[in-house]
Amino acid sequence: MLPMKDFFRSDEIVNLTEEIVYNELQALIGRAEIEFCQCDKCLFDIVCVVLNKIPSLYSSSIADRTYPSAEFKAEYDRLKLLAAEEIPRAIEQIKDRLHH
Ligand SMILES: [Zn+2]
Repeated sequence: MLPMKDFFRSDEIVNLTEEIVYNELQALIGRAEIEFCQCDKCLFDIVCVVLNKIPSLYSSSIADRTYPSAEFKAEYDRLKLLAAEEIPRAIEQIKDRLHH
């Protein structure tokens, strides 16, 4: 078995929830609806809060990710909605404890 760092650095194991949260946060920033600090530290905090709130969607198969089953696609879409819901809440939470 590979050492842990290499095991997870192989890019074979992907948590698609990370991709979903990143994309949803980027879309929200693009819409400029909410004012909040967008420094890296605050964005990292926001993403961590959301990732701790919503389920992971791990995949170890690029084929599954490229040609997702209906079930996989449905879960992806469900997580997109959850992320869109949780990101503004996380922003509110982060605002109250600014690190800088
Ligand atoms: Zn900040």
